Amino acid sequence: MRFSALRVLKEGLTGNKGWAPHWRDPEPQPQYDIIIIGGGGHGLSTAYYLAAEHGLKNIAVLEKGYIGGGNVGRNTTIVRANYFLQGNSEFYSHSMKLWEGLESELNYNVMHSQRGLINLFHSDGQRDAFARRGNAMINQGDDAVLLDREGVRKFVPYLDFDNVRFPIYGGLYHPRGGTARHDAVAWGYARGADQRGVHLIQNCEVTGIDVEGGVVRGVQTTRGAIRAGKVAMVAAGRSGQVAALAGMRLPVESHVLQAFVTEGLKPVIDHVLSFGMGHFYISQSDKGGLVFGGDIDMYASYAARGNLPIVEHVMEAGMTLMPMIGKAKVLRSWGGVMDMTPDGSPYIDKTDIDGLYVNCGWNYGGFKAVPASGHCFAHLIATDRPHGAATKFRLDRMRTGIGILDEEGTGAQHNLH
Ligand SMILES: Cc1cc2nc3c(=O)[nH]c(=O)nc-3n(C[C@H](O)[C@H](O)[C@H](O)COP(=O)(O)OP(=O)(O)OC[C@H]3O[C@@H](n4cnc5c(N)ncnc54)[C@H](O)[C@@H]3O)c2cc1C
Repeated sequence: MRFSALRVLKEGLTGNKGWAPHWRDPEPQPQYDIIIIGGGGHGLSTAYYLAAEHGLKNIAVLEKGYIGGGNVGRNTTIVRANYFLQGNSEFYSHSMKLWEGLESELNYNVMHSQRGLINLFHSDGQRDAFARRGNAMINQGDDAVLLDREGVRKFVPYLDFDNVRFPIYGGLYHPRGGTARHDAVAWGYARGADQRGVHLIQNCEVTGIDVEGGVVRGVQTTRGAIRAGKVAMVAAGRSGQVAALAGMRLPVESHVLQAFVTEGLKPVIDHVLSFGMGHFYISQSDKGGLVFGGDIDMYASYAARGNLPIVEHVMEAGMTLMPMIGKAKVLRSWGGVMDMTPDGSPYIDKTDIDGLYVNCGWNYGGFKAVPASGHCFAHLIATDRPHGAATKFRLDRMRTGIGILDEEGTGAQHNLH
């Protein structure tokens, strides 16, 4: 089933009876070449690229809940390529290019909107840091424009520019940054993978990883044992628990991150904005809700719900930046379990167990990474060599200290990543 304007018109005129399910619902088979644990954005994009680019077919994605029920359907949908450090910058640049072709690649409307992202700065020192970041982005081949105060005012006049504590000095504008519809990204990759023969198996929790003589042999699940030549762990906030099934302890901590949505409003914010003096970011959804968030809750947890002090903290940051937001009613908030690493950068690597691979550590920013993460991880699984855009995401950097990718220079302080 292909989507097209003509098809939408035809279905609209004939009672929408011709739409087929986006993917099948297969029973787990006793054996696959590759098993992917986790049907989030990264697991699904990995399966898609394994099939689409490497011609592999005998693949299963095992998801303990339902497709799109994890962080991939819980995030604030910001997509950007504004990283500073080598290792990160080429990876997110690669991801941005994949985003830009994603809808035609998947024949699926993921509502990718390059509405522009503005990171505000509030001091001379911060301006210097953003100028440096902008230059790094341009050198990487991406786009960045340093705006002065009046330049920012032209785009977003409703901000509190003269806030006594945090006056706005300017902003780093990233025109190709923006948003995408989060769960549509999961559905688009799921549909693409299914069309290429991948089995998407929902309600199938992996409860054990079978390893014999240092080689992975398969997994135990709530729907029986499944043999496999290769097993890929892509469980985001649950990565520590899944790796423990193979006797591994990952350098990852799980923390809750909350998000908030207001009632639907007329169009008011037509960019993605981030406040430089606190961790606060906001955009407006196509339905009109203001979508925003801030810091993680400051304790390790597997609960996908947060606490009130962080709610207060996020609301205060919003009010400081744009006092008008106080008139909007918050309708919903929720949490997701984040896989936080000591340097704020991810892992895409083999493990010491033959045939067992790991992809995790996405911190606050794994949604924008979904295309490149799957693309690079599929390359690693298929060829046993890292993709050129993801050579630095090694698991052993925490043991050796070599190649630490600390984007914010904040060490292991999780709330600053
Ligand atoms: C509130 C919030 C806001 C965010 N905002 C942004 C943003 O604006 N921009 C951005 O780039 N990123 C953002 N992120 C981060 C981003 O959502 C995550 O980094 C990313 O979605 C994680 O990868 P994933 O999609 O594969 O995770 P998930 O969707 O969580 O996928 C992992 C899957 O593994 C499954 N699983 C776990 N254990 C098992 C098991 N034993 N067996 C089988 N399956 C298992 C889970 O059920 C889950 O479906 C945000 C996250 C949150 C929570």
